Amino acid sequence: MSIQRPKGTQDLLPGVIEKWQDLEQHIRTICREYGYEEIRTPIFEATELFQRGVGETTDIVNKEMYTFLDKGDRSVTLRPEGTASVCRAYVENKLYGGQLPVKLFYMGPMFRYERPQAGRFRQFHQFGVEVLGADKPIVDAEVITLVWDLYTRLGLKGLEVHVNSVGCPTCRAVHRTKLQEFLAPRREQLCKDCQDRFERNPMRILDCKNPTCQEITQGAPTTLDTLCPDCSEHFQELKELLTAAGVSFKVDPRLVRGLDYYRKTAFEVLVENIGAQSAICGGGRYDGLVEQVGGPQTPGIGFAMGMERVLAALQVSNPLNNLTKKEFVRFVALGEEAQKKCFTFVSQLRRKGIPASIDLLGRSLKAQLKTADKAQARYAAIIGEDEMNRQVVILRDLTLGEQTELPFAEAEEELIQKYREEQ
Ligand code: ATP
Ligand code: MG
Repeated sequence: MSIQRPKGTQDLLPGVIEKWQDLEQHIRTICREYGYEEIRTPIFEATELFQRGVGETTDIVNKEMYTFLDKGDRSVTLRPEGTASVCRAYVENKLYGGQLPVKLFYMGPMFRYERPQAGRFRQFHQFGVEVLGADKPIVDAEVITLVWDLYTRLGLKGLEVHVNSVGCPTCRAVHRTKLQEFLAPRREQLCKDCQDRFERNPMRILDCKNPTCQEITQGAPTTLDTLCPDCSEHFQELKELLTAAGVSFKVDPRLVRGLDYYRKTAFEVLVENIGAQSAICGGGRYDGLVEQVGGPQTPGIGFAMGMERVLAALQVSNPLNNLTKKEFVRFVALGEEAQKKCFTFVSQLRRKGIPASIDLLGRSLKAQLKTADKAQARYAAIIGEDEMNRQVVILRDLTLGEQTELPFAEAEEELIQKYREEQ
């Protein structure tokens, strides 16, 4: 019996990995332009961090965590998301003591025990940003604009940006009562999860995907109906700033992010062409979270983007440029002396940043030439016994089928020259 990879995980192989690298490159570039610095936190954390930071009533903590005891009997969890860890790191490293706001981004694997299906994995990857220490609507606008600009650059089509305000604890308390009053007569008909939510977190019923619950919540009071003046003004300003930045968006009063610590702004980006799992990015403001993990009162906002889903959407709308650097020159050698000479050339060229290669399997001359063709190398550089004696390389242009001879002393310089011309 051969061993297989765990359910819901993937091997990202050459041929696909180039698209990941291209996406990562775009992300790093845009983060630099927007002034966001990278943070890398551990893949596992104390389980309590997520219980406190993500919230006990969420699906993530309730059902989806990879939690285990380590050999020292500590309960640890493979991170299901990045925000709680970033906030912990912010507090633990006293980043609040420096220049504010702190603008961070992260990229890496996340782990959730979910039923694997298209667009839903147990190990998946997120790119996310967090801004800590700034509470103005312009921060929310900057973060949403960053997502918008990234997607525009990537050439993603069929995007929808949904924004909402879930208010603050003050206006949410008013909403909670109104919503419970509205739902009370049909409480028994809600799905089992929503019956639980009725007391614990009724706002989330608005977000339930169950068709009966969706029918029952038609016309229910939304958080927008009960915003306090402060939250209302924040939302108004955000909308104006997004318009000023040229971001198209829709107000979606039913958008309720699943996490307990969200305040005011919530947003999501949906894409139309990748099937049921159409959310490629979700985020919002979490002004209560840093305190929740033991730090000073600190406003925060961020988002997380599912990289698998973005790549799936790109596959449909605009395949990323394949960044694979095709081999530039493949050395073909006949005989031991020639092989050594070729190896010297290859090593020198590589040190100068030129993609060069050489046979590693001791193949025949004919097989080596065939491999050069298959690898779609631009040139084959051939040295046999005769060339060795005459101290020359045959340089064959594999695209045009022409060949020339170069003295050893000139070959390296000539290849570097040709490579530069083609870049
Ligand atoms: P969903 O409603 O799809 O379960 P979520 O609300 O759990 O999403 P978030 O926790 O906000 O998602 O994570 C942000 C993004 O990460 C999502 O919009 C999605 O693109 C991606 N994502 C979440 N869970 C998975 C998963 N299991 N596999 C792949 N991508 C995921
Ligand atoms: Mg989920």
